[in-house]
Amino acid sequence: MYTVQVGDKVSDLDTPSMIVDLDLMESNIKKLMDKLLPTGVNVRPHLKTTKSAVLAQKLAAAGAKGGCVAKLSEAEVIAAAGFDDLLITCEIIGPVKVKRLVALYQKHRKIRIVIDNEKGATAINNALAASGIEEPISVLVDLDVGLHRTGVAAGEPALALARHIGGLKHLKIIGVQGYEGHLQHLHDRADREQQCLASMKTLTETADALRQAGHDIQVVTTGGTGTAEFCITVPGVTEVQPGSFIFMDTDYRNAVGRHYGNSLTILSTVVSRQGPRAVTIDAGLKSLTTDSGLAECKDARYAYGVLGDEQGSLMWEEGTPDLDVGDVVEMIPSHIDPTINLHDFYYAYRNGVVEEIWAVDSRGKVQ
Ligand code: PLP
Ligand code: MN
Repeated sequence: MYTVQVGDKVSDLDTPSMIVDLDLMESNIKKLMDKLLPTGVNVRPHLKTTKSAVLAQKLAAAGAKGGCVAKLSEAEVIAAAGFDDLLITCEIIGPVKVKRLVALYQKHRKIRIVIDNEKGATAINNALAASGIEEPISVLVDLDVGLHRTGVAAGEPALALARHIGGLKHLKIIGVQGYEGHLQHLHDRADREQQCLASMKTLTETADALRQAGHDIQVVTTGGTGTAEFCITVPGVTEVQPGSFIFMDTDYRNAVGRHYGNSLTILSTVVSRQGPRAVTIDAGLKSLTTDSGLAECKDARYAYGVLGDEQGSLMWEEGTPDLDVGDVVEMIPSHIDPTINLHDFYYAYRNGVVEEIWAVDSRGKVQ
């Protein structure tokens, strides 16, 4: 079996491999924390990006408090790996999931959940009641602030849902979540800021309305890599959930600029020559996702194209040095989260040498 060891040279790795420039990653984390923490806001990074308990710990060591996960099955894995201060940011619906949630909460009382409808709230409450667990689970009302993905509507619907949850013995409202995912990648910074502030108005006004109705709203959580810097300027926002900043991708680089560097790349080998200015590399759809456009070669003179599941092409203009069979290139993913979900391990390096190896713990955990 082929296994990579700490101390191996990056140039000796088999391909495709997912590699992380530790200096750049650490600089991304420091830049984010330096910008956000002095405002007093809590940074709860979204671990849907890294899917790694080790990286959750590194972020916590840099000042983050807890983490978010998208799905319940991610929470199961990350909590079992030793990091259980987790907010599950997707709704938990259906008898199997509710059962899994109760089992998870039995072992990990820090788990927080979001709820956007009465049916879901009642089902979770009843399952907790049947379990004999006394301690109510912490709930955030999930509010729609414009994404129209999940979330109850602001105003009376949010108040009615909170009233319903407030009447359930095994649920305890601690806050509101409102994620403005539709704004993260807007290229026009002024537009992104303006629309974000409008979403934050909806969020903080709802938080106030819930307080006036008697709910103990302590957490107002929101934001991603593209908006966190705007969210933190709004009084009443207590927490932000950025994820992608740690590694970035070409889509985020094009939208929010180069403040954070592309610290993760996919190492790939030229496996065939296909003409005077074209080669085939061993990274296709199973190594790099294309939902947000095509990945880019780190050396921008070589343009990438998909050749199917297993391969891609690199082409270049006349005058650019030729690539040849056996050459190794680095590809920058276009969308970091689903790309990471294609790989088993991160090989993190400094000065060309593998320094740490991290599993993608919650790879494939989509339930
Ligand atoms: N919060 C929620 C609820 C999300 O769904 C996401 C990403 O989709 C994030 C935060 C993190 O966003 P990003 O990776 O763009 O920083
Ligand atoms: Mn994403």
